[in-house]
Amino acid sequence: MLESVRDTHPLVYKHFSSLPEGEEHLGRVIELDRYWEHIRNEPPADAILPGQSLPPGVTISGEYEIVYAGGTLGLLHAAVMAERYGHKILVIDRHVSGESTRDWNISRGELDTLQETRLFTAEEIELFIVRKYRTGWVEFFCDEQKQKRLYMDNVLDCAVDADKLLGAAKDIVLAEERCSVLDRTTFLRCYRFADHLVLEAAGPDGELLYVKTQLLLDVMGILSPIAMQLNRGRSQTHVCPTVGTVSSGFDGVDYEVGEILASTEDADTSTGSGRQFIWEGFPASGNEYITYLFFYDAVDSDNDKSLLGLFEAYFKKLPDYKKLSDDFRIHRPVFGIIPAYSHGGYKREREIADDRILLLGDAASLGSPLTFCGFGSMVRNLPRLTAALDHALGTDSLCRTDLEKISAYEPNVASMSNLMKYMCYDARTDTPGFVNELMNEVMIVLDELPPRYRQSMFRDEMRLDDFVNVLLKVAWRYPKVLQATYDKLGIDGSMSFLKNLAGWALSGAGKK
Ligand SMILES: Cc1cc2nc3c(=O)[nH]c(=O)nc-3n(C[C@H](O)[C@H](O)[C@H](O)COP(=O)(O)OP(=O)(O)OC[C@H]3O[C@@H](n4cnc5c(N)ncnc54)[C@H](O)[C@@H]3O)c2cc1C
Repeated sequence: MLESVRDTHPLVYKHFSSLPEGEEHLGRVIELDRYWEHIRNEPPADAILPGQSLPPGVTISGEYEIVYAGGTLGLLHAAVMAERYGHKILVIDRHVSGESTRDWNISRGELDTLQETRLFTAEEIELFIVRKYRTGWVEFFCDEQKQKRLYMDNVLDCAVDADKLLGAAKDIVLAEERCSVLDRTTFLRCYRFADHLVLEAAGPDGELLYVKTQLLLDVMGILSPIAMQLNRGRSQTHVCPTVGTVSSGFDGVDYEVGEILASTEDADTSTGSGRQFIWEGFPASGNEYITYLFFYDAVDSDNDKSLLGLFEAYFKKLPDYKKLSDDFRIHRPVFGIIPAYSHGGYKREREIADDRILLLGDAASLGSPLTFCGFGSMVRNLPRLTAALDHALGTDSLCRTDLEKISAYEPNVASMSNLMKYMCYDARTDTPGFVNELMNEVMIVLDELPPRYRQSMFRDEMRLDDFVNVLLKVAWRYPKVLQATYDKLGIDGSMSFLKNLAGWALSGAGKK
């Protein structure tokens, strides 16, 4: 596989070849990039089929109350449903459940929500945190005289060892004798009957496996074929392709400070309508340091949004962001396509459930379209999501209209998609410095306001009155944003913005 990218992506070839599991990592990157084929060409075949289509004579190898397809965030949810609520559960994963292609940052306050689920004690949570930062900052490239570095405390300031946390959740599931976890087992489709589902999966050697379940939780991330079917091939409106590495050997990095967002240049116009690259730098365990490169984009833009292409740009540009010493060493790559959905109206518009099927995590795409903290979204909502699902199972309320109420949809978070649209650079409407200039003005405004404004915006906890206050102050300081609103959002987009705000006001979300 590495040979196939030697000429097209020489830097990816060079750096991935130096990793012991380079081939395997590249395979995962290419697997995720298949998403673009589904978007451009054809969505995957339907994954929910009527019961009559079940091949005759199949052997049902097990019976469960809940089957989770996807063992990343799915494991956290499964652990609560198994241990606290006592359900009989099966978790399947195409790869090895609990081993993620990413690491996570979150604030301690958010992480403490896990105590409410009774999964972990405060002391156990402490063990998942590999580093805590003194502070963090956000800064956008622009004229040095005007550039504002905005500092914020208690935002994404805990680096979490994702595999350790998920491993502990997996152990909790496996400790319940009635529950099982099957790795290297791929969900293929499910057959729906009036009072149950039969799931068809392929085991490690391709052998077919059939299990019966009351409920299927789809936690398969951005590649979920169920999300594509329910949303007619358009499961996301926007995306944030993200790549990076866990490395060591940088000169001059501060291991006590998180670089939450940092841009180092104007928009790149080498492909399609252009991309505004943004960096993140997070100290991790020991001398490890995580750097990410990403950009916000509409799912149907004409840009190269492949992770492979982005990795090539990452390796080329990394020395402009951080000084590499002679000891620079890559430990492993981190990557993914983070999904977002812009809801056009007053409330959730994306399909996240069907009879006996519920989507969670990135498959549901209800995380913040601005901060893209899907892990944070799951953690914040976990007590509510698990308690509600237990109730639904107990009362046999498993039809679509019951299940879709159990969602991580938060109107205040959904409204952030409107801000995200300003971050999607478009050469047809924007000057190359537009995103940086606008965001620098937002940083100046936030700097003049009390710290809770910046903290709540970056922790997905914003209040409506605070949000409107920020918008008005930015428009006052930077009137060009009004023309940009017309150019980038248009009449329809502006109407959606207003409807989102109205939905937020009516919901009362974010009131403290
Ligand atoms: C590089 C990067 C850094 C991030 N950092 C942060 C952060 O600091 N803080 C934060 O809050 N969020 C962060 N996020 C977002 C967060 O990682 C995601 O929201 C989260 O991983 C979503 O989890 P998920 O389980 O829904 O989907 P995924 O993580 O995509 O996992 C899907 C799982 O389903 C399995 N699967 C897929 N298809 C099948 C199939 N057909 N059958 C069986 N199994 C299948 C996969 O193997 C995988 O294990 C980051 C994302 C990326 C890409």
